[in-house]
Amino acid sequence: MRAWVQTGFGGPEVRRLTEVAAPSPASDEVVVRVLAFALNRLDVLQRHEPVVPGMSVPHVAGMDFAGQVVSSGDPGLDGLVGSVVLVDPVVSCGECEYCLAETPTYCSAFQTIGSTRDGGMAELVSVPARNCTVVDVAAHDSARLAELAAVPVAGATAWRGLLGAGKLVAGETVVIPGAGSGLGAAGVQIALAHGATVITLVSGEQKKERALASGAHHVIDRTARPDWVAEVMTITGGRGADLVWDHVGGRFLGQALRATRPGGRVVLSGTTDGLDTQLHLPDLYQPGRSILGHGSYSRADMASAVAAFADGTFEIVIDSVWPFEQLAEAEARLESNDFFGKIVVLGPSFSTTTLDLSEHAA
Ligand SMILES: [Zn+2]
Repeated sequence: MRAWVQTGFGGPEVRRLTEVAAPSPASDEVVVRVLAFALNRLDVLQRHEPVVPGMSVPHVAGMDFAGQVVSSGDPGLDGLVGSVVLVDPVVSCGECEYCLAETPTYCSAFQTIGSTRDGGMAELVSVPARNCTVVDVAAHDSARLAELAAVPVAGATAWRGLLGAGKLVAGETVVIPGAGSGLGAAGVQIALAHGATVITLVSGEQKKERALASGAHHVIDRTARPDWVAEVMTITGGRGADLVWDHVGGRFLGQALRATRPGGRVVLSGTTDGLDTQLHLPDLYQPGRSILGHGSYSRADMASAVAAFADGTFEIVIDSVWPFEQLAEAEARLESNDFFGKIVVLGPSFSTTTLDLSEHAA
């Protein structure tokens, strides 16, 4: 079978389309024929350097994918063969206190498909059967599969951050940075679906228009209005937001605190803007604000996000869809930051001529 195999760390040249042996499933695993996979920032970060402990080369990336089960490692799992499934990338033992508490990423046996074990940038991938959610989508419906493949990481992370850790409820005002990122776009849709007033932050007039079109109530263009905290105060009549979903970290965290009302919350779900920061501590204790860690997302967060997507509660914003052979171009688009929503690559069984759904918005 063919797979995009990463053999070193660096530019796009370290990932090559290679003929490799088909995976053989363990007794608790099924083999999935990949129909579509969505790119995540970690795919590119890990191509540059091994940012996650336990990741090594040769490696097949791809955390987010949908596919069709073609075989299994045990006759007891044969019922899954033929099903179209979405794969949860978090693999854990399923038995320890953290797994039983629905916090699988704290498990000592925790692995991530597409990070610390091989993922979906391939024709076939072997995954634990318990990681598969059967979905009601035809194996030839490339447009729907492209959307579906983009649900797990962005959907479950936004679900956990906003609703799990953040306890966002209808009527509250939430600030979400990076409405054009796959994560931010999913967060905006999930917050809207739950009745929140959404203020989102973007960079550039074009992304502002896209964010408004996606339903956000207020959009602040940080290139035109660098003091976004003051803008939030103006929008909220001086009160501040109930919740800021900070999935970027770094300097943003201190600003996020100041953008919340007294007693407000900040959920920290990521550190793409920096691992360290400095806080003005009175901003935290005097108004009684809280900073909450995102923590492990659970199978329930994943299941909720998938179910909400399936029943149309929220939509996934797709930037573009690429053929399997053009992975390097798709990754270049992700690295350019000139995109809005999720970037998806179709599995090799879709020929390039099926790409008429692709809108490579310039
Ligand atoms: Zn465990």
